[in-house]
Amino acid sequence: MSVPGYWREQPQRYRYEANRCKSCGKVFFPPRRVCEPGCDPANLEPCKLSQTGKVLTYTIIHIGPTQFADEAPYAMAICEMDGGGRITAQLVDCPFDKIEVGMPVRIEFRKIQQDGHAGILMYGYKVVPG
Ligand SMILES: [Zn+2]
Repeated sequence: MSVPGYWREQPQRYRYEANRCKSCGKVFFPPRRVCEPGCDPANLEPCKLSQTGKVLTYTIIHIGPTQFADEAPYAMAICEMDGGGRITAQLVDCPFDKIEVGMPVRIEFRKIQQDGHAGILMYGYKVVPG
């Protein structure tokens, strides 16, 4: 994750900004400019992503990307949030053998990593059992 990319994503990361299509009801996080073909882009309206949802699917990462290598193994989950919208986030505070598809989760703001050179603390969302 590059620093410019990280900062560009800040508004969504901090405020859970999403948007919703008034035509079909889909919720997008991060927000999208267009919905499905056939949906009027003008029908997209901002909304807030719910902070509770459930695990749709998950995977245990045994060898992480370099910057997360210290944390492996860890669980990444795709979660369907209440009211719509999906996030992919690290699932923490839960033993791997207790993770189940459909289990309730909530989003928490946690330290993601620390850049050793610059000493920058990066925060982002993780999910925990709800
Ligand atoms: Zn739509």
